[in-house]
Amino acid sequence: MRLEDLVGQARAVSILRNALRRDRVAHAYLFSGPEFVGKSTAAALFAQALNCEGAEGELPCGVCRSCQLGASGSHPDMRVVGIASDAEAGRRTEISIDQIRQNSRKPRQTPLPLLQDAYLKPAIGRHKVYTVDPADRMTAEAANALLKVLEEPPPHVVLTLVTSQPSALLPTVLSRCQEVVFQLAGSADIEQHLIGLDVAPEASASLARLSGGRVAWAVNAAKRTEVLRARDALLTLCAAISGHGAPDSLRLAEDIKSQAAELARIRNSAEVEENALKARNDAQEESPVGDRALREELPWCLDIMVSWYRDLLAIGQDGPLLNPDYKQALKQQYRPQLASRTECAVESILETKHAIQRNANIDIALESLALGLVAWCE
Ligand SMILES: [Zn+2]
Repeated sequence: MRLEDLVGQARAVSILRNALRRDRVAHAYLFSGPEFVGKSTAAALFAQALNCEGAEGELPCGVCRSCQLGASGSHPDMRVVGIASDAEAGRRTEISIDQIRQNSRKPRQTPLPLLQDAYLKPAIGRHKVYTVDPADRMTAEAANALLKVLEEPPPHVVLTLVTSQPSALLPTVLSRCQEVVFQLAGSADIEQHLIGLDVAPEASASLARLSGGRVAWAVNAAKRTEVLRARDALLTLCAAISGHGAPDSLRLAEDIKSQAAELARIRNSAEVEENALKARNDAQEESPVGDRALREELPWCLDIMVSWYRDLLAIGQDGPLLNPDYKQALKQQYRPQLASRTECAVESILETKHAIQRNANIDIALESLALGLVAWCE
């Protein structure tokens, strides 16, 4: 894959391409923009381009030793510092200080914390490239420790901070990074991209619309047919929230949660199938869906619910719909006088999503959201 293959990111790509061509690469970049638009993929490709051993031309070449190590995640000079990037992943929801700076009580940390590693010479490449992703999930301590590298970067170091919420970063961190803004892609571009990946045309069109311009969301959803099924269930739930016979809020919260649990179960059984040994362990298959799995799946569900309320706003203005197959149900629920409340509904679903991603109590978050949504039409 080349940088140019990123869907709908011509501007961001040209900034990076120019820096590479002119050999004027900054020490620190901020890749900002909505989630799922390709920022992380861009960071991986940029890291590969910086260490590519290919001849002049459109780097990364994708075939040299460095590119292959980079693509498989085993290049010693390219590292992603993230939430799930080491042995403690699974228990963690933030990027901790221990990932950035040596903890004096843990003498032998592997991998070496970023700060200590950054001052070593590259093992095989020209640059040591660190991608902090998502950078907004660094603890305040971690961000302060990172400042040290940002203030006096070793000459061979390039840092890329990836975030969809730059406002959550320290101003002192932001001011030391060159910002590269990533944008939402056009739905037609995403649809073509999915068709190019052999996704059926109808599903491609549906997922492209539902993705709201976020290509990585669409690609991930295309690998999971259950997402389209969950979409039907969730849109039906939304459609049922109207004046007469609306579900009570506790029931609605429970229904949203059970959709996420179903997604988690399907993913879990797909993962178990991949591992024949685990497949024999029936007890594991029937274990209840854990908090972490729910936390990973609920954002998918809440994104789908957002599309319903965005459509209610669009239908009032005769705009294009994200779920055109639900036009009738949308028309039935549409009330012009509820436009401002509909905007609030979109906001509160997105807030709930972020709160859950940031470790809020799932039940409380969903119940308070459901309470608001049920009250929406009253
Ligand atoms: Zn290469």
